[in-house]
This record gives sequence, C-alpha cells and structure tokens, in this order.
Amino acid sequence: MPARRVMCQHFSEEDVRCGAVAMRRQRYCFHHLRERKLVARMKREQARQRWLEHAPLDNFKSINVAIIKTVNGMLLGDIDSDRCGQMLHKLALASASLRKAQEEPSA
Ligand SMILES: [Zn+2]
Repeated sequence: MPARRVMCQHFSEEDVRCGAVAMRRQRYCFHHLRERKLVARMKREQARQRWLEHAPLDNFKSINVAIIKTVNGMLLGDIDSDRCGQMLHKLALASASLRKAQEEPSA
C-alpha cells in the first residue's frame, strides 16, 4: 500500500493552496512550517515587549517578574543576549531607583 502524501495546509492571501508535500507528521511543508514558527516567535516577542513596556515597575515583585520573563525570553531564544542585557540594565536602574525612593525620608 503506497504511503499517502499529505499536502501542505497553507493558503496564500489569494486563497491558493501551497502545492508542496507536508513534512512528516506535520500539517505544513518545510517552508511554511518554518515561516509559522518564525511568526509565532515574533508574536511572543512582541507580546513580551508590550508587557514589559506596560509593566508597573513600581515594586520589587513586579521588577523580579520582569527579570524572570526577560531571562526566560533569552533562554528560549526569543530575545538575543544584547537585548536581554539592555533590558536587565533598565530593570536594575528601576530597582535602584525604587530602593532609593524607599530610603528617602518622606516629607
Ligand atoms: Zn507549504
């Protein structure tokens, strides 16, 4: 019995189906599988950046959460090491600023 060929499930914006054979046990061909993984990675990175831009870095707990998310992003390959370093530096500044504000006597 011949093996069934599963065709790629990708459809273009013009609603034309990709004519390539899907990767084994996948729904997409090599090209579209790689493209989908790249898009998913970009969306995760954008969500992470949006979260960090809007994260309330007004207490040590939220700063620690941001540090953990940043390092996890680097470990998962979503954030390169240079960007991770920049983000950790900014978080360190936020932490130092918060510490200084708490040490100052209130007027
Ligand atoms: Zn395809």
